[in-house]
Amino acid sequence: MRYYQRRWLFAVMLLFSSMSIAADNVIVRYLPTNDIKLQLITKKLQSDSSIQDAISLMNDEFIFPKPLTIVFGSDDGPLYDPVVNDILIPYIFLDEVDQRFKAVNYAGDNQGKANPENLGQAVMDVVIHTLFHELAHALIATYELPIVGKEEDAADNLAAVLSIEYFENGAEIAISAADLFYLEGDEIVEFEEADFWDEHSLDLQRYYATLCYVYGSDDAQYAYLLEETGFSDERAELCIGDYERMTNNWLTLLDAYMSPEVDATTPAE
Ligand SMILES: [Zn+2]
Repeated sequence: MRYYQRRWLFAVMLLFSSMSIAADNVIVRYLPTNDIKLQLITKKLQSDSSIQDAISLMNDEFIFPKPLTIVFGSDDGPLYDPVVNDILIPYIFLDEVDQRFKAVNYAGDNQGKANPENLGQAVMDVVIHTLFHELAHALIATYELPIVGKEEDAADNLAAVLSIEYFENGAEIAISAADLFYLEGDEIVEFEEADFWDEHSLDLQRYYATLCYVYGSDDAQYAYLLEETGFSDERAELCIGDYERMTNNWLTLLDAYMSPEVDATTPAE
């Protein structure tokens, strides 16, 4: 399996920093904006190696009959639009995530001192998780993949699998995304009916489900999550099997639509 570096070669990144990247499967557009704050976000996205790695992964590993376009700087979103095969991510989404994390000194030290670099990475982690979540919707729509259960849960699950299996220390991507779900859930004072019939699971359910998979992917390294989540021993044990099954199920479903592994040991015919 191929591993993408969260911090990649800067030189390679520069090749991709133009306004749009023309590629076989995935096209990226950064919409121009007059807002200086949003211009800064555009630059951050273009120069962030982990974002560019995530885009490379989507481009290299998946096959789309019609190119998938990632549009950064849209008004709507984050969402996948099946009519035009676009993933829309507003610049303002990054600002909102940044504000939410800043408000609780996320990734700061326990003396209350902020760590801008870790905070910035956490925001990019959320963007990567969101890109993979929307990629799942794109794959499901394009190939009419049979999903039994909530498509939104399945999309979260693929985001966790791709982060954990394809990125070095990729579980951290899933953890940042889970923590954002927690903060969003924490803002809810009173549930409304709509929260229960929404196509998404509740924010807190998305938080626990994602951390269950992170724990399940490596129970030794992420043993500390048991205390944070309060999972019972039985639940923790199930997370291990759940993660393995879910990963196998997704990769089996996608097998026909992913680029074949290049095996260097096999001689060319
Ligand atoms: Zn979704």
